[in-house]
Amino acid sequence: MGFFQDNLIPIFKKRELLFQESYKEAENVFSFVFEKEKDMTWKAGQYGLFSITHKKIKNPTKPFSLSSSPTENVIKITTVIPDEPSDFKKALLELKKGSKVSMSGPLGPFYLKDNRPALLVAGGIGITPFRSIVKRLSDESSGFGNKVHLLYMDSQQSFLFKNEWDEISKQASLNVNYLTSRDELYLKINEFLTSYKDEANYFIAGPKSMTDSISTHLLNQNVHKKNITKDVFTGY
Ligand SMILES: Cc1cc2nc3c(=O)[nH]c(=O)nc-3n(C[C@H](O)[C@H](O)[C@H](O)COP(=O)(O)OP(=O)(O)OC[C@H]3O[C@@H](n4cnc5c(N)ncnc54)[C@H](O)[C@@H]3O)c2cc1C
Repeated sequence: MGFFQDNLIPIFKKRELLFQESYKEAENVFSFVFEKEKDMTWKAGQYGLFSITHKKIKNPTKPFSLSSSPTENVIKITTVIPDEPSDFKKALLELKKGSKVSMSGPLGPFYLKDNRPALLVAGGIGITPFRSIVKRLSDESSGFGNKVHLLYMDSQQSFLFKNEWDEISKQASLNVNYLTSRDELYLKINEFLTSYKDEANYFIAGPKSMTDSISTHLLNQNVHKKNITKDVFTGY
Protein backbone atom coordinates (compact mmCIF):
# COMPACT_ATOMS: atom_id res chain seq x y z
CA MET A 1 0.00 0.00 0.00
CA GLY A 2 1.32 3.40 -0.85
CA PHE A 3 1.48 6.65 1.02
CA PHE A 4 -1.48 8.03 -0.93
CA GLN A 5 -3.78 5.14 -0.09
CA ASP A 6 -2.73 5.12 3.57
CA ASN A 7 -2.79 8.86 4.18
CA LEU A 8 -3.96 11.30 1.57
CA ILE A 9 -7.10 9.73 0.14
CA PRO A 10 -8.62 8.72 3.54
CA ILE A 11 -7.95 12.13 5.11
CA PHE A 12 -10.76 13.52 2.97
CA LYS A 13 -13.15 10.80 4.12
CA LYS A 14 -14.88 12.43 7.03
CA ARG A 15 -17.81 10.77 8.74
CA GLU A 16 -19.97 11.41 11.74
CA LEU A 17 -19.88 8.79 14.45
CA LEU A 18 -22.70 8.22 16.91
CA PHE A 19 -21.50 7.82 20.48
CA GLN A 20 -22.76 4.72 22.29
CA GLU A 21 -20.97 4.50 25.62
CA SER A 22 -17.75 4.97 27.54
CA TYR A 23 -16.24 2.93 30.32
CA LYS A 24 -13.22 2.81 32.54
CA GLU A 25 -10.50 0.33 31.53
CA ALA A 26 -8.07 1.16 34.36
CA GLU A 27 -7.09 4.09 36.59
CA ASN A 28 -7.28 7.20 34.33
CA VAL A 29 -7.90 5.14 31.18
CA PHE A 30 -11.25 5.12 29.37
CA SER A 31 -12.65 3.59 26.21
CA PHE A 32 -15.17 5.47 24.05
CA VAL A 33 -17.41 3.38 21.82
CA PHE A 34 -19.12 4.59 18.65
CA GLU A 35 -21.54 3.01 16.22
CA LYS A 36 -19.91 1.47 13.16
CA GLU A 37 -21.67 2.11 9.88
CA LYS A 38 -22.00 -0.91 7.59
CA ASP A 39 -19.63 0.42 4.92
CA MET A 40 -16.95 1.45 7.41
CA THR A 41 -13.77 -0.57 7.49
CA TRP A 42 -10.09 -0.14 8.27
CA LYS A 43 -6.90 -2.11 8.55
CA ALA A 44 -6.34 -3.25 12.12
CA GLY A 45 -3.75 -0.88 13.63
CA GLN A 46 -4.76 2.28 11.76
CA TYR A 47 -5.87 5.52 13.38
CA GLY A 48 -8.47 8.19 12.78
CA LEU A 49 -8.52 11.97 13.25
CA PHE A 50 -11.29 12.53 15.77
CA SER A 51 -12.98 15.94 16.07
CA ILE A 52 -15.17 17.31 18.81
CA THR A 53 -18.21 18.93 17.19
CA HIS A 54 -20.75 19.43 20.01
CA LYS A 55 -18.96 22.54 21.32
CA LYS A 56 -16.19 24.95 20.38
CA ILE A 57 -12.78 24.09 21.88
CA LYS A 58 -9.27 25.21 21.04
CA ASN A 59 -7.74 22.04 19.58
CA PRO A 60 -10.82 20.12 18.45
CA THR A 61 -9.05 17.42 16.40
CA LYS A 62 -6.68 14.69 17.65
CA PRO A 63 -5.44 11.37 16.28
CA PHE A 64 -6.44 8.14 18.02
CA SER A 65 -5.70 4.56 17.06
CA LEU A 66 -8.80 2.45 16.69
CA SER A 67 -8.57 -0.05 19.54
CA SER A 68 -11.45 -2.12 18.17
CA SER A 69 -10.84 -4.58 15.37
CA PRO A 70 -12.60 -4.32 11.99
CA THR A 71 -14.09 -7.74 12.89
CA GLU A 72 -16.05 -6.11 15.73
CA ASN A 73 -19.28 -4.19 15.43
CA VAL A 74 -18.09 -0.92 16.90
CA ILE A 75 -15.47 1.79 16.61
CA LYS A 76 -13.59 2.18 19.85
CA ILE A 77 -10.81 4.46 21.04
CA THR A 78 -9.01 4.09 24.34
CA THR A 79 -7.28 6.99 26.00
CA VAL A 80 -5.68 8.36 29.13
CA ILE A 81 -7.82 10.94 30.95
CA PRO A 82 -5.59 12.55 33.57
CA ASP A 83 -6.91 14.24 36.72
CA GLU A 84 -6.66 17.60 34.94
CA PRO A 85 -7.82 16.74 31.45
CA SER A 86 -7.37 18.87 28.34
CA ASP A 87 -10.47 20.53 26.85
CA PHE A 88 -10.57 17.74 24.26
CA LYS A 89 -10.69 15.01 26.91
CA LYS A 90 -13.24 16.98 28.95
CA ALA A 91 -15.42 17.14 25.83
CA LEU A 92 -15.07 13.37 25.32
CA LEU A 93 -16.28 12.79 28.88
CA GLU A 94 -19.34 14.96 28.19
CA LEU A 95 -20.55 12.78 25.29
CA LYS A 96 -24.00 11.28 25.83
CA LYS A 97 -25.62 8.38 23.98
CA GLY A 98 -26.50 9.74 20.53
CA SER A 99 -23.93 12.60 20.62
CA LYS A 100 -21.73 12.87 17.56
CA VAL A 101 -18.03 13.28 16.87
CA SER A 102 -16.46 13.30 13.43
CA MET A 103 -13.67 11.07 12.20
CA SER A 104 -11.36 11.40 9.18
CA GLY A 105 -9.55 8.33 8.00
CA PRO A 106 -8.68 5.54 8.56
CA LEU A 107 -5.05 6.55 8.22
CA GLY A 108 -1.50 5.32 8.45
CA PRO A 109 0.73 2.36 7.57
CA PHE A 110 0.60 0.75 11.04
CA TYR A 111 -0.84 -2.65 10.07
CA LEU A 112 0.44 -6.15 9.28
CA LYS A 113 1.26 -6.39 5.59
CA ASP A 114 2.38 -10.01 5.29
CA ASN A 115 2.70 -13.28 7.16
CA ARG A 116 6.22 -12.85 8.44
CA PRO A 117 6.85 -13.02 12.18
CA ALA A 118 6.05 -9.76 13.90
CA LEU A 119 7.38 -8.12 17.04
CA LEU A 120 4.85 -5.68 18.51
CA VAL A 121 6.34 -3.31 21.08
CA ALA A 122 3.93 -1.17 23.13
CA GLY A 123 4.79 1.53 25.64
CA GLY A 124 1.87 2.39 27.95
CA ILE A 125 -1.19 3.58 26.06
CA GLY A 126 0.68 2.65 22.84
CA ILE A 127 -1.02 -0.73 23.29
CA THR A 128 -4.21 0.49 21.53
CA PRO A 129 -3.37 -0.33 17.88
CA PHE A 130 -2.12 -3.76 18.97
CA ARG A 131 -5.44 -4.56 20.59
CA SER A 132 -7.01 -4.12 17.16
CA ILE A 133 -4.29 -6.08 15.32
CA VAL A 134 -4.35 -9.06 17.70
CA LYS A 135 -8.14 -9.16 17.98
CA ARG A 136 -8.42 -9.24 14.20
CA LEU A 137 -5.95 -12.10 13.93
CA SER A 138 -7.80 -14.12 16.55
CA ASP A 139 -11.25 -13.41 15.04
CA GLU A 140 -10.46 -14.26 11.43
CA SER A 141 -10.75 -17.84 10.30
CA SER A 142 -7.35 -17.69 8.59
CA GLY A 143 -6.15 -16.84 12.12
CA PHE A 144 -2.55 -16.34 13.05
CA GLY A 145 -0.56 -17.05 9.90
CA ASN A 146 1.98 -14.85 11.65
CA LYS A 147 4.02 -15.69 14.65
CA VAL A 148 3.31 -12.65 16.80
CA HIS A 149 5.25 -11.59 19.87
CA LEU A 150 3.89 -8.72 21.94
CA LEU A 151 6.16 -6.86 24.35
CA TYR A 152 4.00 -4.67 26.54
CA MET A 153 5.93 -2.28 28.75
CA ASP A 154 4.26 -0.17 31.42
CA SER A 155 6.26 1.07 34.37
CA GLN A 156 3.00 1.51 36.37
CA GLN A 157 2.06 -2.13 35.68
CA SER A 158 -1.30 -1.00 34.36
CA PHE A 159 -1.68 -3.60 31.63
CA LEU A 160 -4.79 -2.89 29.56
CA PHE A 161 -6.84 -5.70 27.98
CA LYS A 162 -4.84 -8.27 29.97
CA ASN A 163 -7.71 -10.79 30.12
CA GLU A 164 -7.99 -10.68 26.36
CA TRP A 165 -4.26 -11.15 25.79
CA ASP A 166 -4.19 -14.08 28.18
CA GLU A 167 -7.22 -15.73 26.55
CA ILE A 168 -5.95 -15.28 22.99
CA SER A 169 -2.44 -16.43 23.78
CA LYS A 170 -3.86 -19.73 25.10
CA GLN A 171 -5.15 -20.74 21.68
CA ALA A 172 -3.05 -18.90 19.11
CA SER A 173 0.56 -18.33 18.21
CA LEU A 174 0.65 -15.15 20.25
CA ASN A 175 3.33 -14.64 22.86
CA VAL A 176 2.94 -11.83 25.38
CA ASN A 177 5.48 -10.44 27.83
CA TYR A 178 4.44 -7.87 30.42
CA LEU A 179 7.43 -5.72 31.26
CA THR A 180 8.04 -2.93 33.73
CA SER A 181 11.57 -1.77 32.96
CA ARG A 182 13.59 -0.68 29.98
CA ASP A 183 16.25 -3.31 30.69
CA GLU A 184 13.69 -6.13 30.56
CA LEU A 185 12.27 -4.69 27.37
CA TYR A 186 15.63 -4.56 25.58
CA LEU A 187 16.43 -8.08 26.76
CA LYS A 188 13.27 -9.38 25.08
CA ILE A 189 13.84 -7.33 21.94
CA ASN A 190 17.33 -8.80 21.68
CA GLU A 191 15.99 -12.35 22.13
CA PHE A 192 13.60 -11.79 19.23
CA LEU A 193 16.41 -10.26 17.17
CA THR A 194 18.58 -13.31 17.75
CA SER A 195 15.85 -15.57 16.36
CA TYR A 196 14.50 -13.50 13.49
CA LYS A 197 17.01 -10.72 12.69
CA ASP A 198 15.84 -8.87 9.58
CA GLU A 199 13.35 -11.60 8.60
CA ALA A 200 10.50 -10.08 10.61
CA ASN A 201 8.37 -6.97 10.88
CA TYR A 202 8.84 -4.67 13.84
CA PHE A 203 6.02 -2.42 15.08
CA ILE A 204 6.56 0.12 17.86
CA ALA A 205 3.87 2.33 19.43
CA GLY A 206 4.17 4.73 22.34
CA PRO A 207 5.78 8.01 23.38
CA LYS A 208 8.36 9.54 21.02
CA SER A 209 11.38 8.96 23.28
CA MET A 210 10.57 5.25 23.43
CA THR A 211 9.76 4.71 19.75
CA ASP A 212 12.89 6.64 18.72
CA SER A 213 15.26 4.74 20.98
CA ILE A 214 13.89 1.32 20.02
CA SER A 215 13.96 2.03 16.30
CA THR A 216 17.56 3.32 16.60
CA HIS A 217 18.47 0.11 18.42
CA LEU A 218 16.86 -2.03 15.69
CA LEU A 219 18.64 -0.09 12.94
CA ASN A 220 21.95 -0.55 14.78
CA GLN A 221 21.25 -4.29 14.82
CA ASN A 222 20.91 -4.23 11.02
CA VAL A 223 17.14 -4.36 10.80
CA HIS A 224 16.22 -2.61 7.57
CA LYS A 225 14.21 0.62 7.90
CA LYS A 226 11.43 -0.81 5.73
CA ASN A 227 10.82 -3.53 8.36
CA ILE A 228 10.23 -1.00 11.15
CA THR A 229 6.89 0.79 11.52
CA LYS A 230 6.33 3.36 14.26
CA ASP A 231 3.28 5.06 15.74
CA VAL A 232 4.53 8.03 17.71
CA PHE A 233 1.90 8.97 20.29
CA THR A 234 2.16 12.74 20.59
CA GLY A 235 1.02 14.36 23.85
CA TYR A 236 2.75 11.85 26.16
C1 LIG B 1 -1.01 8.09 15.26
C2 LIG B 1 -1.41 8.47 16.67
C3 LIG B 1 -2.24 7.62 17.39
C4 LIG B 1 -2.60 7.94 18.70
N1 LIG B 1 -3.41 7.09 19.38
C5 LIG B 1 -3.73 7.35 20.67
C6 LIG B 1 -4.51 6.44 21.43
O1 LIG B 1 -4.95 5.39 20.95
N2 LIG B 1 -4.77 6.77 22.72
C7 LIG B 1 -4.32 7.93 23.29
O2 LIG B 1 -4.57 8.16 24.47
N3 LIG B 1 -3.58 8.81 22.60
C8 LIG B 1 -3.27 8.55 21.30
N4 LIG B 1 -2.53 9.46 20.58
C9 LIG B 1 -2.16 10.73 21.23
C10 LIG B 1 -3.39 11.67 21.23
O3 LIG B 1 -3.64 12.17 19.94
C11 LIG B 1 -3.19 12.87 22.18
O4 LIG B 1 -2.11 13.64 21.75
C12 LIG B 1 -2.98 12.43 23.60
O5 LIG B 1 -4.06 11.59 24.01
C13 LIG B 1 -2.90 13.62 24.54
O6 LIG B 1 -4.08 14.37 24.40
P1 LIG B 1 -4.53 15.45 25.48
O7 LIG B 1 -5.74 16.14 24.94
O8 LIG B 1 -4.65 14.81 26.84
O9 LIG B 1 -3.21 16.28 25.54
P2 LIG B 1 -2.74 17.75 25.30
O10 LIG B 1 -3.78 18.69 24.82
O11 LIG B 1 -1.48 17.61 24.50
O12 LIG B 1 -2.42 18.08 26.78
C14 LIG B 1 -1.37 17.41 27.45
C15 LIG B 1 -1.61 17.62 28.93
O13 LIG B 1 -1.62 19.03 29.23
C16 LIG B 1 -2.60 19.33 30.22
N5 LIG B 1 -3.66 20.20 29.68
C17 LIG B 1 -3.90 20.50 28.37
N6 LIG B 1 -4.94 21.33 28.25
C18 LIG B 1 -5.39 21.57 29.51
C19 LIG B 1 -6.45 22.35 30.05
N7 LIG B 1 -7.27 23.08 29.27
N8 LIG B 1 -6.62 22.33 31.40
C20 LIG B 1 -5.81 21.61 32.20
N9 LIG B 1 -4.78 20.86 31.75
C21 LIG B 1 -4.57 20.84 30.43
C22 LIG B 1 -3.21 18.01 30.62
O14 LIG B 1 -2.53 17.48 31.74
C23 LIG B 1 -2.96 17.12 29.41
O15 LIG B 1 -2.94 15.75 29.74
C24 LIG B 1 -2.14 9.15 19.29
C25 LIG B 1 -1.32 10.02 18.55
C26 LIG B 1 -0.96 9.68 17.26
C27 LIG B 1 -0.07 10.61 16.48
